[in-house]
Amino acid sequence: MKCADCLESLGPFIDGELPPDEAALVEEHLKTCADCAAAHQRLVATSSQLKKTLMRYEAPDVLKARIRASITEAARDAPDQPVMVPLPRRSAWQRTFAAAAVVAIVSSGLTYAVVNQRASANPVEQEVLASHIRSLMPGHLTDVASNDQHNVKPWFNGRANVSPDVPRLDSLGFPLIGGRLDYIDGHNAAVVVYTRRQHVINVFSWASPGPTEQSGVLSTSNGYHLIRARHNGLEMWIVSDLNESELRDFARMVIPPR
Ligand SMILES: [Zn+2]
Repeated sequence: MKCADCLESLGPFIDGELPPDEAALVEEHLKTCADCAAAHQRLVATSSQLKKTLMRYEAPDVLKARIRASITEAARDAPDQPVMVPLPRRSAWQRTFAAAAVVAIVSSGLTYAVVNQRASANPVEQEVLASHIRSLMPGHLTDVASNDQHNVKPWFNGRANVSPDVPRLDSLGFPLIGGRLDYIDGHNAAVVVYTRRQHVINVFSWASPGPTEQSGVLSTSNGYHLIRARHNGLEMWIVSDLNESELRDFARMVIPPR
């Protein structure tokens, strides 16, 4: 095997994608060629570092939803085929990046499966979380898309049996993007949708007679934070994958403390 061929094959070799006979040739060459062996070592180290780094980044909601939607679509189009991400034969560097991207996608898909299969202790929490995840799929986020609370608040009249507060928070870094209707725990729920950078924040409200409860009970499920409160005759849930500290700041503005 020539060095050029060996270098070309290093990426798929590291990913375990070479046919056994080709892999054996690469292995043989690496034993006898110090240059290629060094390149192999560098690539292994870079690949492992890259995977570690990528795994640490939390993908924004919108990106996760797009990936989930495309995985679901691909699976539906070919129900008997495993979902494969094509890896064209390219340079070792490109292949390393492609492999790392696949790891990120698979990791995101696994999270989704766990979310779906997890039997939450609280069935309402599970419904709210499922609705949040569904809302991130293309075309599901808003029924009325507007950054003006004077369009969003009246839109709920006659549609939901509650009229949630729709504060304007864009100057504080939480732009309003609209509202939608949902159905949670046997109730028509009004959902007001905000964003923070790439993160979507859904604010669910439905009528719930009973005493006001302490604001801001937080739970965490598979990377999503949920804040629940009962306020002014409303059951309210705030859901996002935004970090806990910023989501609590947001909750204090949407559900003012008594
Ligand atoms: Zn060589």
